[in-house]
Amino acid sequence: MAKHIVVIGAGVVGLSAAVALQEAGYDVTIVARDFPGPAETFDGLQHINFSSPWAGAHNRWVPPLPSGEGLREHRFALTTFARMRALASAATESTAHGITFMKGIEYVDTGAAVLADVYGLLTEARAQSAELAMPGFRLLGADDFPDARVAWGCEYDTWCVNPMVYCAFLLRRFVFRGGRVARRELRAVAEVFALAAADAVVGRGGGGVVDAVVNASGVGFGGPEDGVFPTRGQTCLVANACDATVTRQHADGSWTFCVPRGFEGGTIVGGTKEPDSWDPLPSLAVRERLLGSMAATYPRILEGAAGGDFTVIRDVVGRRPTRKAGLRLEGELLPGAVAGGGDGFVMHAYGLGGRGYELSWGVAEGVVTGVREYLEARASSTA
Ligand SMILES: Cc1cc2nc3c(=O)[nH]c(=O)nc-3n(C[C@H](O)[C@H](O)[C@H](O)COP(=O)(O)OP(=O)(O)OC[C@H]3O[C@@H](n4cnc5c(N)ncnc54)[C@H](O)[C@@H]3O)c2cc1C
Repeated sequence: MAKHIVVIGAGVVGLSAAVALQEAGYDVTIVARDFPGPAETFDGLQHINFSSPWAGAHNRWVPPLPSGEGLREHRFALTTFARMRALASAATESTAHGITFMKGIEYVDTGAAVLADVYGLLTEARAQSAELAMPGFRLLGADDFPDARVAWGCEYDTWCVNPMVYCAFLLRRFVFRGGRVARRELRAVAEVFALAAADAVVGRGGGGVVDAVVNASGVGFGGPEDGVFPTRGQTCLVANACDATVTRQHADGSWTFCVPRGFEGGTIVGGTKEPDSWDPLPSLAVRERLLGSMAATYPRILEGAAGGDFTVIRDVVGRRPTRKAGLRLEGELLPGAVAGGGDGFVMHAYGLGGRGYELSWGVAEGVVTGVREYLEARASSTA
């Protein structure tokens, strides 16, 4: 009988991990407080701690430093890019997968901190090397810049998703292939093992065995002591279409970006990145600043627009699940968590901050590897 894995979380990370585990031959149940649904019906305040609906969501290549810092995340992003390509090309015309491929454009202003290392040190040869493999990468010249404040620019091939269309697609695929789901709110990871013993859904008929748990709860269960904090993001969803996803980093550390969502989902114009801010309400002044800055950075977004202006659908406030030590992708034994006193195994996969979509399939592969290694070690120790 296939080993039973319970994934906590139905955001982009939990869904990707659940599908990857299923593909690896495991029997998988997702337990979560929130599930994907039509974003149009989501109340911003009610769902504010569910990060996935509020993302852009695009892939921005963040090149690793020559020291190697950031290389693991870059590899995760490459894995995700390949998977997005495969999902989009395997789909039939009627598959609502929510993925659109397009050009990504980056502008960095004079004085922006990232010029000193991340971008300033990036050459075309390095970007196109086998290690970085950034598809379609090309440096832009001053003639391509929107104004004289831009010091550096590039373009590359990338993908954007309509977040809830994409996540609902993953959820449908998971259930279609035999996965089970249960809407439950948990207080601790260890609760899953107890729930499985009592619960007909999680326990596959009650008294069920859970061989491993995946903690893809976004923020984990450790709270501030684990170094987890929200990075608030305010964006504006507009009905205007755009032919590229454009990102600009300003000298004062602020950002201007747009992410076409496709699938009649409009375009996200953003956005703020405010660590430790719990403010759930959007500011109209910020909306005006974001839209004005986007129009100046990429005037094509307003080409053909009614009245030459943006058509606002809604303001968005979300919380990126950020962790001081970076994303947590590691296994842990929970002593005595299993009924009868045995240890329970949890594979953590949370704290992806502003990169949950970008890194999702790389993290999912890491989850499968961690679970498989644990189960193999357990089997050989009991053989
Ligand atoms: C404004 C904004 C823009 C962004 N843009 C991008 C972008 O362009 N690209 C990108 O890659 N990322 C982007 N992000 C970040 C991205 O949204 C997150 O990294 C990603 O959604 C995290 O996914 P997750 O599955 O880890 O967490 P979540 O989406 O928060 O999902 C967590 C899951 O765990 C469940 N859960 C949590 N606690 C419990 C509990 N106690 N009991 C039961 N279930 C529980 C929840 O119900 C939910 O199902 C953006 C975020 C914001 C806010």
